[in-house]
Amino acid sequence: MVRGIRPWVEGRQLEDVVRPLCRCKPIAIQPAFSELRKRVQGRVVDRVWRRAKRIVLELNSGDSFLIEPRMTGLMLVADPPDVQHLRFEWRLEGSQANLWFWDRRGLGTITLCRPEERDAIFSRLGPDALEITPDQWWARLSVARRDIKVALLDQKLVAGIGNLYASEILHLCGIHPQTRASRLTRARVQKLHEMTRLVLEEAILHEGSTLSDGTYRNVLNQDGGYQNSHRVYDREGMTCPTCASGTIQRIVQAQRSTFFCSRCQRKR
Ligand SMILES: [Zn+2]
Repeated sequence: MVRGIRPWVEGRQLEDVVRPLCRCKPIAIQPAFSELRKRVQGRVVDRVWRRAKRIVLELNSGDSFLIEPRMTGLMLVADPPDVQHLRFEWRLEGSQANLWFWDRRGLGTITLCRPEERDAIFSRLGPDALEITPDQWWARLSVARRDIKVALLDQKLVAGIGNLYASEILHLCGIHPQTRASRLTRARVQKLHEMTRLVLEEAILHEGSTLSDGTYRNVLNQDGGYQNSHRVYDREGMTCPTCASGTIQRIVQAQRSTFFCSRCQRKR
C-alpha cells in the first residue's frame, strides 16, 4: 500500500483530517480526535514508509501517523468499496484525490505519535521480515518452542509476515506448519530466509492479495494480483500445484487457518 500511496501524498500539505460519518463501532484513534486534528492541520507529509505491517505518514512537525490496517483495513486514494466503512480522511491541498482509511471490520488503528513514541513502538517489534538476516532467524527460531507457523506470525520474533504469507512461505520451504521452530535445521532456516523474501517481495510487486470476499484492494480499489500466485492459501481440497498429487489441507493454529500440502510438507 505504501508504494501506491506515496506519489499521491508525499510533499503535500494536510488541509484537514475528517472522521466520515460511520454507523459502525469506531476504530481506535489516538490521541483524541480533536487534539490529533490540531496537531496535524497545515502540516506537510514529508515521507511515507512502512515498518512491518504499519504504514507511517511522517509529517514536517516530527509527528507521524501510524496506521495499522489489521484484517480488512485499506488505504485508498480513489473509489472506496463502499462509503459506510470509511473511517478516516486526510484532506490534502490541491484538487487531486484525498487519502482515506477504509475498514470493513474496524479492527484497524490510527495513532499520531511523537518521534520518541514511534521509536518505542517500533523497538518492541522484531526485525522486519524483509531485512532480517539468516543469523537473526537462526538465533530467534532455535529457541522458539512453538509451531513454526505460529512463530512466523509473532511480530516480536519477526515483523511483517501475515497469515496468508506464512502458509505460502512454509509451503515453498517444504516445512510442515506444525514443526517445532527450534527443531529446524540450519539449512531449513536458510531456506526460510530466502522464501520469506521471495514471497513478500512478490506480494509487494502484486500490491497484495484479493481474497474471495474482495477484502484486499490496492490504493485505487483494484484487485491485488497476488492471489493468482497462491499455491496453498484458501485452496483446501484442491490438488497441490507444486507436486501435482497431494491435496491441500486446512488446519487451525492459534485461531488462524493454515493451509499446506501433506505430501510436499511432511512432518518429520
Ligand atoms: Zn504438494
